[in-house]
Amino acid sequence: MSGPRHPRHFGLIPAAGIGARLGAGIPKQYMPLAGKPMLAHVLDTFAATAAITHTFVVVSADDGYIGDLVAAAPHWQGRITILFHGGADRHASVLNGLNAVRAQVDDDDWMLVHDAARPGLTSALIEHLIQALRDDAVGGLLALPVVDTLKRGDQSGRVAQTVERTALWAAQTPQMFRYGLLLQALMQATALTDEAGAIEMQGLQPRLVEGSPRNFKVTLPHDVALAEMFLRS
Ligand code: C5P
Repeated sequence: MSGPRHPRHFGLIPAAGIGARLGAGIPKQYMPLAGKPMLAHVLDTFAATAAITHTFVVVSADDGYIGDLVAAAPHWQGRITILFHGGADRHASVLNGLNAVRAQVDDDDWMLVHDAARPGLTSALIEHLIQALRDDAVGGLLALPVVDTLKRGDQSGRVAQTVERTALWAAQTPQMFRYGLLLQALMQATALTDEAGAIEMQGLQPRLVEGSPRNFKVTLPHDVALAEMFLRS
């Protein structure tokens, strides 16, 4: 007789955006950073993390870059699967990805959804998140306590209000939830949201697990130099 099966951990990387704000001429996730495309940093990290059973990447149906990326990375063989199921927005890409892997994942397996635009993630951060949520009933996400004083601006660019920052966190990814709960939550979510937001709409409270500044989202042109500094360190 076999004992109780431990839930597995799967990566799910939405990488079907176009990243217009970066203005690089190619989709953001394929922009070279510290010697290789942004998405390759993320996939190398997931492929090298022993706690991750397998990782799925969602790209758009007409993605013309992923083939070369995979061809250049034979070490992803058996560790990474590409799904050509990108949606109109991030939420749709994640939902399409979850539906596409339904036959390979059990309801109580954990899904770690991570943005391709956060190349600074490390195996240690993934393992820290998994460890912190090991016995958690809901799941959670990497996040950072907000340290800056926050101002709400008005339409003329003046301060309308200072926002109390105590207890405020900036959400990062991975966001880690059980497959069955996450699929249901994203299907029922009534507004565009991250995974944690969809879980919150179910009346649940995801756990905040302290992440790292190096796991920031590369969005604007001036983020590139900072990302390269972290990636080379
Ligand atoms: O544009 P932004 O940085 O917010 O995108 C976050 C993540 O969502 C990126 O990895 C991006 O490729 C992904 N995305 C997606 N499908 C879309 C839009 C964004 O997978 N339609």
